[in-house]
Amino acid sequence: MTNEPIEPRERAAAAVEPLPEGVDLASYGEGPREECGVVGIYAPGEDVATLTYFALYALQHRGQESAGIAVSDGRRLVVHKDMGLVNQVFRDTSLAALHGDLAIGHCRYSTTGASSWENAQPIYYETPTGGGIALGHNGNLVNTNELARKLDQPPRNDSELMAALLARDVDVSLEEAIVRTAPQLRGAYSVVVLDEQRIHAFRDPNGVRPLQIGRLPTGGWVVASESAALDIIGAVLVRDVEPGEVVSIDGNGLRSQRFAEATPTFCLFEWVYLARPDHRQDDRSVLYARRNMGRQLAREAPVDADIVIPVPEAGRDAAAGYAAEAALPFADGLVKNRYVGRTFIQPTQSLRQLGIRLKLSPVREVVEGRRLVVVDDSIVRGNTARQLVAMLRSAGAAEVHMRITSPPIANPCYYGIDMASRAELIGADLDVEAIREFLDADSLHYISLDGLIDATPDDRSQLCTACFTGDYPIPVPGEQEQLAQIRFDFSDDTAG
Ligand code: SF4
Repeated sequence: MTNEPIEPRERAAAAVEPLPEGVDLASYGEGPREECGVVGIYAPGEDVATLTYFALYALQHRGQESAGIAVSDGRRLVVHKDMGLVNQVFRDTSLAALHGDLAIGHCRYSTTGASSWENAQPIYYETPTGGGIALGHNGNLVNTNELARKLDQPPRNDSELMAALLARDVDVSLEEAIVRTAPQLRGAYSVVVLDEQRIHAFRDPNGVRPLQIGRLPTGGWVVASESAALDIIGAVLVRDVEPGEVVSIDGNGLRSQRFAEATPTFCLFEWVYLARPDHRQDDRSVLYARRNMGRQLAREAPVDADIVIPVPEAGRDAAAGYAAEAALPFADGLVKNRYVGRTFIQPTQSLRQLGIRLKLSPVREVVEGRRLVVVDDSIVRGNTARQLVAMLRSAGAAEVHMRITSPPIANPCYYGIDMASRAELIGADLDVEAIREFLDADSLHYISLDGLIDATPDDRSQLCTACFTGDYPIPVPGEQEQLAQIRFDFSDDTAG
């Protein structure tokens, strides 16, 4: 057996893995996936269905499997939903059929319940009195089994479970039913609910997922997962729906009730990756926080390099921050093949061999012969990052220094983000040096947890950091047992 040095191109060819059979191209090579985006609009006299459509457009990154809108004209609810992106589900004709003064909308990526039309939202649920409610949920409940025992019919998912629990309370208004029911729910939930007359929006006491209130210039009200959904329809951000608060909107304006004390632990990963850069949370834009993360990384892990490049899209603002702090040039060394995931054409076997190249292309003029700092938001299983390093070497990079704007992800998320199981997380069992070796990078540095938190406007006590620290702010039944059982086996690593 010889021990000759391996040429970068050969190393690259060996490391780039084919696309797995039947893989969803839209998600291949992406980071952790958000579960959902929600919106609710009360705007009498306006085309609420079309306003909701555009607001959903701005939330498309939060869920790309299905989309739906429910509208009420004051007497009757109508729901239109289907599998696909917002612009695939709705046409002029389908929007024109949705008449009313109030609407809710939802875009979904499933982490509980199958990816199917039945599980697409808004969920419609008939009440025993002959009315109906429509519900859209962003988050994930952790006590679904316990709650499902209260129902005669097993629900298909945690969102239907909520709708069923709310619909049982026939003797009180929907607003009161929420105040009664919400304290029984455990987990993350930012929810919009529509009945014939009103929109209600409520958020779990920890406020894990965002939910904001805006005002339209015409006086109407909007609630939405992110401020970008308010901006796109000309609404002005008023405030957050507070953790533990329910707001109800109708012709009398907006009313608020509290169903629980607020114990805020906002998802730290929304700052790193999930939210759009133009989303504003706690008076700061996500873009500004991500720039800070990049600057912090440059201070924590400087390196002799020629150029800083982002892994598009979430790494872009942090890479700009790193380059500014390190006084290095910034350039797009990787281009995202933005629409490849939107195709319904399955790649052939020979195309599958291209692996990550189907999603990202290196720009040879930028990377060739250069020592690169490559800024990305996270490493989940490690396979995508390994292929990325190989692809950059294959394009002629002299050195590849990976800089990551989150600490190692060592624990799964139970609050609405699909990351992978603990057994699949490379950060769960390997130290940073072992991960660097696996990636075949020249250096690897993850931002420190303190450095990351300092880049946001929040205090540590106000944030969920569970996927990094294992410190779950909302107890997850069975989590400790899972932790004890699972051992990481990296010898058979086939995850995407
Ligand atoms: S576990 Fe991670 S991704 Fe999930 S809510 Fe907490 S910080 Fe966010």
